[in-house]
Amino acid sequence: MNISSVNNFVDGKFSDSSSNKLDVWSPINGKKISEVNLSNADELDKIVSSAQNAFKSWSQIVLKDRAKIFYKFRDLLQKNIDDLAVAIREENGKTIVEARAEVMNGIELAEFASSMPQIINDEIQVVSKGVECRSSHYPLGVVGSITPFNFPIMVPLWTILNSIVLGNTMILKPSEKTPLGATLIAKLLTEAGLPNGVFNIINGDKNIVEAMCNHKSIKALTFVGSTKVAKIVYRSATASLKRCISLGGAKNHLILLPDAHKDMAANDIINSMSGCAGQRCMAASAMVAVGDTQSIIEKICEKALTVIPGKNLGAVISKESKSRIEKYISDAEKAGAKVLVDGRGVIVEGKEDGYYVGPTVIDYAKPDMAIAKEEVFGPVLVIIRTNDIDEAIAIENSSNYGNASSVYTQNGNLSDYVTKRVSAGMVGVNIGVPVPKEPFSFGGWNDSRFGAGDITGKSSIYFWTKLKKRTTKWNPEAKKDWMT
Ligand code: NAD
Repeated sequence: MNISSVNNFVDGKFSDSSSNKLDVWSPINGKKISEVNLSNADELDKIVSSAQNAFKSWSQIVLKDRAKIFYKFRDLLQKNIDDLAVAIREENGKTIVEARAEVMNGIELAEFASSMPQIINDEIQVVSKGVECRSSHYPLGVVGSITPFNFPIMVPLWTILNSIVLGNTMILKPSEKTPLGATLIAKLLTEAGLPNGVFNIINGDKNIVEAMCNHKSIKALTFVGSTKVAKIVYRSATASLKRCISLGGAKNHLILLPDAHKDMAANDIINSMSGCAGQRCMAASAMVAVGDTQSIIEKICEKALTVIPGKNLGAVISKESKSRIEKYISDAEKAGAKVLVDGRGVIVEGKEDGYYVGPTVIDYAKPDMAIAKEEVFGPVLVIIRTNDIDEAIAIENSSNYGNASSVYTQNGNLSDYVTKRVSAGMVGVNIGVPVPKEPFSFGGWNDSRFGAGDITGKSSIYFWTKLKKRTTKWNPEAKKDWMT
């Protein structure tokens, strides 16, 4: 994978920018792998004009024909899975197995977009004798998407595919830390036959995000990233009267009950906490262990020791992330928590400059410790002990976040009791990463999501379209006083 300079993608062409550039580093070995444009507001104006132009014809193509491009795109993702996975691994640091899984998720998103003609129907009903109401979806125009570093291909595809198949034209602003994936998406969409100007990329940092939020001709904006920035983007985009869904960070709580299946729970919890080096917004982060769960906790630690940095555990995104995560662990230890498995100070042979943190399990944390409340975004599981199921639920409920929460138990009644009471948009029963697959939609609650509706699946159809409601009367016998 060699992209020495990541450029904007405008009107079907990669175009160098006159603006400053930022180095892109590989987390695997700390080496520079590329550089990326930091675009300015004038460049955004040009991209918006090109996308506005493309919208005129793209929005007029019937849905079935637009969808055909995504059949081809789906197959191209499959055909290029090895190259895509290598690119993800290099820029993001995850393992090749995880990178391939990310592309597989992208394939499912493309299948959903391809099946849009089978999913979306106008609604028609005779509402009074001879009078019919019909509600139809119309695209919005030029729309934008701002994405984080942790899924350089899957998260951009959450928004690109559904928005475009529904007739909009899209401007993506990928994370400046992982901008390569978007370039590959652009190449494959072009190969699949997407007309010029329908999909565009503007690279940059917070300045270009601000310009996107304020741009009058961008009709809707999605954001995925940390809660701090999600709030900034939501406030700013809606202040300029755009539709906005803004997804933020997470602190996902597992509730472990004593009757949980020991092996299954331990495997699943460690996979959830350490997968993608803990840098998933759906990762298990805090575990509230209820009652006598000691033997399951021992199994969890045993399993944690099979997770080896540089083998089945990838790197975290940056040197700063590594220091931040290690500081959380040290602070928790100083505050009285017990580090059962310690991932600090890890060095991987042959990748001494990579940014690795080993799997870490911390027991006897208190709910008010920073490590138990804040998003750590690393392979760290913090355990809070309690003897009471309602107290466990109260601890989960006290979190500002609300992306995911899972319960581990063999008891159906208890699983119902917990899942109905936790304050999270995506809940799991014996599932550590309860991501709803299409056609279900993805979206959290509380400070994990601002705006109405979810970002993927059927819910996203309402975000990317506006409804036109038509009322028709042809029958001369229809009631004359209709709506008077
Ligand atoms: P981030 O918030 O730092 O950056 C996300 C995007 O915002 C990037 O494109 C970046 O250029 C831009 N940005 C950064 N600072 C900005 C500012 N001050 N103003 C305007 N734009 C700014 O997030 P990240 O570190 O790239 O990603 C990790 C975060 O994303 C975690 O908090 C994780 O939980 C979250 N995340 C959430 C979901 C979800 O579905 N809720 C999914 C993936 C990641």
